[in-house]
Amino acid sequence: MGLASPTVLRRLTQDERDFLARLEGGHPITPSERRDYAHLIARLTRTGAWRSGPQRTARASVGGDPALSSGVASALRAMGVRVRREPGDGSLTVIAGLATADPALTTALMAASTPHIAILADDAGAWVSHVIQPGLTACARCRDVARTRANHDWPLVAMQCVRRTPRLNPLAESVTVARAAARALAWLDAEGAGREGAGGEGERVDALGAVTSEPLLPEPACGCGAAGAVGDEVAARRARWR
Ligand SMILES: [Zn+2]
Repeated sequence: MGLASPTVLRRLTQDERDFLARLEGGHPITPSERRDYAHLIARLTRTGAWRSGPQRTARASVGGDPALSSGVASALRAMGVRVRREPGDGSLTVIAGLATADPALTTALMAASTPHIAILADDAGAWVSHVIQPGLTACARCRDVARTRANHDWPLVAMQCVRRTPRLNPLAESVTVARAAARALAWLDAEGAGREGAGGEGERVDALGAVTSEPLLPEPACGCGAAGAVGDEVAARRARWR
């Protein structure tokens, strides 16, 4: 067992063999396995043949485009995160859409102060947002405001993209899913003050899978509060996050 620090185990039962086989590839140990195979886990940990990852109790959720969001869900589940396809459930939600975020999804997440990551795919690749903290950091609507300033026809285009299926090539899709899942994991693993800076910044994944920085600034015209206080309700929301 193990290659960096190999340990040879002999006279194993078939159940023990099956359990060890399941550990390959970083499969997380379930609570019942932890109880049933405590002797093996203790020995392998002692010899350095197996290193347990952080025990995750975090819950997250995904929504929007099924292909992209289920890719993120699978990656997070493989790292021990409980993920439901019920946007808003858990302490972080990852949503995916074509060019613009589904306003019904983002409105609900903003109203509930749920941190979220938006994956917005288009014909040139995809944009993966920072962790949007409602009222604190730029939101998906801030992006639409910025895009409208650059092109007055953007609202017309965006309206036609809502709930349409993005089509990324397999390379761009894999990189996009990986970047979003890694960012979500970093956020879920960061605690309290550690979350300062864990949200990262927006990134663009191009059609060849290359990743470049594409940050998003808060827009005063959005009214989400990230660009400054716009009223008592937003001030209260911001205070909850600090
Ligand atoms: Zn905003």
